Amino acid sequence: MEQKSIIIAGAGIAGLSAGCYGQMNGYRTQIFERHDKPGGLCTSWKRKGYTIDGCLHWLVGSGPGANFHRIWEELGAVQGRPMIDHEEFLRVEGKGGKVFIVYSDIDRLEQHMKELAPQDAQVIEELTRAARTCAKYDLPVDKAPELYGALDGTWLLIRMLPFLKVMSRWKKISVQEYATRFGDPFLREALPRVSGLPDFPMAGLLMILAWMDRKSAGYPLGGSLEFSRSIERRYLDLGGTIHYRVPVAQVMVERDKAVGVRLADGTEHRSDITISAADGHATIFDMLGGRYINRRIRGYYDNLPIFPPLIHVALGVHRSFEKMPATVIYSLDEPVTIGGREQDHFGVEIGNFDPTLAPPGKTVLKVMFTADYAYWKNLWQDPERYQAEKESIADHVVSLLEQRYPGLAGQVEMRDVATPMTWERYTGNWQGSMEGWLISKKTLPPFRMSRTLPGLQSFYLAGQWVEPGGGVPPAAMSGRNVMQIICKRDHRPFVTKTP
Ligand SMILES: Cc1cc2nc3c(=O)[nH]c(=O)nc-3n(C[C@H](O)[C@H](O)[C@H](O)COP(=O)(O)OP(=O)(O)OC[C@H]3O[C@@H](n4cnc5c(N)ncnc54)[C@H](O)[C@@H]3O)c2cc1C
Repeated sequence: MEQKSIIIAGAGIAGLSAGCYGQMNGYRTQIFERHDKPGGLCTSWKRKGYTIDGCLHWLVGSGPGANFHRIWEELGAVQGRPMIDHEEFLRVEGKGGKVFIVYSDIDRLEQHMKELAPQDAQVIEELTRAARTCAKYDLPVDKAPELYGALDGTWLLIRMLPFLKVMSRWKKISVQEYATRFGDPFLREALPRVSGLPDFPMAGLLMILAWMDRKSAGYPLGGSLEFSRSIERRYLDLGGTIHYRVPVAQVMVERDKAVGVRLADGTEHRSDITISAADGHATIFDMLGGRYINRRIRGYYDNLPIFPPLIHVALGVHRSFEKMPATVIYSLDEPVTIGGREQDHFGVEIGNFDPTLAPPGKTVLKVMFTADYAYWKNLWQDPERYQAEKESIADHVVSLLEQRYPGLAGQVEMRDVATPMTWERYTGNWQGSMEGWLISKKTLPPFRMSRTLPGLQSFYLAGQWVEPGGGVPPAAMSGRNVMQIICKRDHRPFVTKTP
């Protein structure tokens, strides 16, 4: 059979996944990546003997029972990799010292919430009942939604009806709105802290609780870059080629057909099919000059909210933080201004559950705040002010943590501050977004984005900018789905292999 060539822009999880499935299906693929390593947002970096993990807190499909686990196996990402299932997803500490623990086990969560707020038993039971229903179902991942026939749709409806009913009811209400149903003022304040995002739908929170309960959203030991590297290895083992430090500047088009890419260094590389797994905005408006777009796609970029970019502060601390949970969110008595934004709480991730991240007896702590892209873009023009702001934020975070963990200030050995500009520079993501389109009432299924552009042949989009809600699993699935669609158009059976 003729071996078609595919060029993929971007070696994030979506690009690597598209490459792996392309190789499995007999295509000759090569990936062009602007950075010097794989993974894109799914990455980690080293400072002074500490490893700062910039991504995975939880990985859907981590447990062997989950549908998604099969995809991770096909991509060689989970074999031999221990997963850590935290007993607590996170805990929220209120102003008066009250603590709301989001236990991974739904029964335990229900019991704990009832102890905190016996008067809210009915609301709590309604919430945990819905989460238990979700935990009985797993999202189908085998087939790209575009390839669903009428029978698939009916079968899905019959098989997943109770789940779909829960989703359609709970997607209409945000976590903030739902929290007002609690009579207990602490739970009213604490529940929205769990999602931490405006307009985050309850359906999303239920899914998180369900995945945690099923032990299907664990943390992969070794962290994000190691995880990405395992998929890079799988791709290379399958015969793929990756070129690093080569930004794609343009998708070359002849008679409305993509014919390859032109790199920033001016070299041209031709292919039968081109996939962009790089940032969506840059692909559509820069690499393709905005020529292949319609009102719907423009509307996404004009109207849909995105996951806000982050200020990400990491500290290497000579302290073990024994018996501390993985994530604690603290409410502040007085709001503080960080990076031009008022913050009334902050969360700290305590990375001592992964011994590969720090030397024995030491721990990486991470504190993240949502940030204002325009503020950082402006500051970036002035390197001195930019640097000073980063230092001042690190000072601020150390002093906030010192209040919770006395003595910490003297134990800090490493400070690292990443800003929206860090993500923009290293991954090219639009406005430094951490995860693409925000999951919201508007963007939950059946809402779906097209993986092709109007009027452009032989071209596909993959990754978080065509999978609202983003995340590492949707990125991987997106690469797989695109290859399924390509195989279907080429009248080839889609095959997968597990190493
Ligand atoms: C702090 C943080 C925490 C997160 N936590 C989680 C979590 O716990 N669980 C989870 O599932 N998800 C998490 N995410 C989200 C997840 O990392 C992303 O949704 C996912 O990795 C996106 O993958 P992608 O391949 O679609 O895009 P990207 O990772 O953005 O990959 C795009 C790739 O394209 C490259 N590129 C861009 N432009 C060009 C160009 N012009 N030429 C060549 N290459 C180019 C980039 O360098 C990059 O490698 C987190 C993200 C962040 C930032």
